[in-house]
Amino acid sequence: MAGPGGQDQQKGRMVIRNIGLLLSGKLEQPILDADCVVAEHGKIVAVGRAGLCDTGNATIEIDAQGAALTPGLIDSHVHPVFGDWTPRQNQLGWIESTLNGGVTTMISAGEVHMPGRPRDIVGLKALAITAQRAYQNFKPGGVKVLGGAPVIEQGMVESDFAELAAAGVSLLGEVGLGSVKAGYEAREMVAWARKYGIQSTIHTGGPSVPGSGYIDADTVLEADADIIGHINGGHTALPLRQIRCLCEGCGRGIEIVHNGNELAGLTALRYARELGQMERVILGTDGPAGSGVQPLGILRMIAMLSSLGDVPPEIMFCAATGNTARLRKLDCGIIEPGRAADFVICDRAQHSAGTDMLDSVRKGDLPGIGMVIIDGMIRCHRSRNTPPAERVPVVVETQARPE
Ligand SMILES: [Zn+2]
Repeated sequence: MAGPGGQDQQKGRMVIRNIGLLLSGKLEQPILDADCVVAEHGKIVAVGRAGLCDTGNATIEIDAQGAALTPGLIDSHVHPVFGDWTPRQNQLGWIESTLNGGVTTMISAGEVHMPGRPRDIVGLKALAITAQRAYQNFKPGGVKVLGGAPVIEQGMVESDFAELAAAGVSLLGEVGLGSVKAGYEAREMVAWARKYGIQSTIHTGGPSVPGSGYIDADTVLEADADIIGHINGGHTALPLRQIRCLCEGCGRGIEIVHNGNELAGLTALRYARELGQMERVILGTDGPAGSGVQPLGILRMIAMLSSLGDVPPEIMFCAATGNTARLRKLDCGIIEPGRAADFVICDRAQHSAGTDMLDSVRKGDLPGIGMVIIDGMIRCHRSRNTPPAERVPVVVETQARPE
């Protein structure tokens, strides 16, 4: 869906001032000493104190009213099909609804719910290329969906991966959902994918639905995919000692999902902290799935892992933004010049027991979203899905016209 005037990206200059709390998405400095962000043509150009930033010539100016600003949330694990429809729960508008939960980028772990999904090699390649193109051309609600994640099957050869990469495919769907289930087979194909710049993720744990597979820790370690997909199961988790082996036995991404086992997710988080490797922790929903669509899934993961896992909320926001961007090599997820102007402006929900936004999340409440911005364009104002925020940003009238 194109924005106002048919564009996908801001033309001109956006100034956001009066930010009460600026979360960076960066683990090494999760809270910035800043109250102002300036973006031009959809990219951040300045971050700092308003008195020190050049805030002139704004095409659009937003007064955050003292609310918090975070990078747009990234869902590391979704199963889109086409457009804003999911056949899994026969639901329309699920991506636009998730935008109202603060998600600005989604990463496909395979278009596996496609009715009649082709499993022959030419067919699976064609589907991946089509899905990649379709989501590049169509952003539901403005959300950037990185689609086109083929599910690898036995019989694929190195040239198939070269061909997929040359056609623009940059992801593999969850390894293990197709006929490639043995560690040694997966390892060879994952290495071919990596050679051509295609990222990989692997299904971890028991079968998700009838027909899906079981993948244990030894297989995950042997396959050596970039991301340990849903380390907490989707939904059936591995025994906790195997989850410890995965955290200790490799340096790959530790993906914790909403549609998984909560105890296993909290345990994986604890192992990552004990190892001093929080930069490996990334969040996803694994929606749509048997558990349905979760428009607030990433916010719920942040609140659940922060409150029950006793991790500062600003750190969990990093797991939903900058950690994912860094592991996935995305240009969003962090508030710094040069990155995409993808922002969520949020505040403590009305009547939360928390003293401020972060304290409310620490106590397990969800923040209220007042505005979501993607590539410098306002894509929603007060969220229709979160509890209402106490303070919501307002757009200030400006004189400058778009260039
Ligand atoms: Zn899975």
